[in-house]
Amino acid sequence: MPLFLSLVVIFATLSAQAKEISSTRALYLSDTKFDAAGESQIKTFKVSKNAIGFQINILGDRDSYLVSYLESPKGEVFVSDEPQGVVISKVEREKEPAVGQMLSPNRSLPGIFHGTGTLLFPNSDNLKVSMGDWKFRIRAFGKPAGEPEITNVTIVVKELGDGEVAYAVLPIYTHFKISGGFSPEGKNTTEVLASASEVFKALGIRFKVQKSDNFEEDISANYFPEKFFRKEKESDGIHIYFGDQQLPNSICGISANLPGMTLMNSPVRTGVYLTSKVPDHSNQDIGHILSHEIGHQLGLFHVSERYFVNETVLKDNISDTHKGNEDRFNVMYPDTLMPEPHFTAGQAIVLLKNPLLKLFDNSN
Ligand SMILES: [Zn+2]
Repeated sequence: MPLFLSLVVIFATLSAQAKEISSTRALYLSDTKFDAAGESQIKTFKVSKNAIGFQINILGDRDSYLVSYLESPKGEVFVSDEPQGVVISKVEREKEPAVGQMLSPNRSLPGIFHGTGTLLFPNSDNLKVSMGDWKFRIRAFGKPAGEPEITNVTIVVKELGDGEVAYAVLPIYTHFKISGGFSPEGKNTTEVLASASEVFKALGIRFKVQKSDNFEEDISANYFPEKFFRKEKESDGIHIYFGDQQLPNSICGISANLPGMTLMNSPVRTGVYLTSKVPDHSNQDIGHILSHEIGHQLGLFHVSERYFVNETVLKDNISDTHKGNEDRFNVMYPDTLMPEPHFTAGQAIVLLKNPLLKLFDNSN
């Protein structure tokens, strides 16, 4: 009888088996050279008609990198120093070295983690990938470490085949502090993960834990968990570290890079670190913070940055998010803990185009 039952279960699972309809393709570009101002030559790559999104990952020996220019095969300029229709004052340029890129139709940020730079396209729901040759330029910050200078550029293109997207899967890796991680403070990682996964489930995005392990190390004195973000080999998912060390200014979580550097042929240098040392936060609160950090890892900006330059508010490029307090229930609101955070439909479009998320339909 038990055998019969288990056969029925297997059959039921098989008949409902979904098919992955997205795929990724990695393009490696070599020979990046920089002029005295740190600007590269124009580089190109080709995408097919099935492409729906791509991520540019830069890894080298300079301090940091920025995608300073991006142009579509149709001649649309999506990232530049001087985005069309935007007036940038001298003061603003001095205050923010990449202000033009921040205000571009597809916003671009210098890499946060040493030696890196990333860009997701599209990071706005209004923009689309077009088929053909894309052009871009990289800016390097800091001096070259030596000769020859090393800069690896990987472009991961996401393609979508036939079928209707029914749901998406986000691969994750979880790492727990050996001392018990969250439990000594009464924090339960299962509840934290469940709370974050609820927020994504509302968009049809399911977490899939690929692997779980423990760690012993403490984070470094400068509070940036760089060594964690550097050690992992798997780059096909988001690494989440459940630690127990207090972070400055009552911060609960830190993530590296926006978007995180993923789908690379090298250690990922990315991840999210969460701490249990926040006594006044419930497991659900920490889960919401985890959702926010995963949002950054997947390429979403805050709905608005409170003080960008000259006390102005900078909104994200997504059509259905709002400025300031109006969107305080949004997951990507900068600094709040709200009971039922949500993503908008526009943010969901960006998330689903990220190469890290696998898309499935429900047919056989
Ligand atoms: Zn944030």
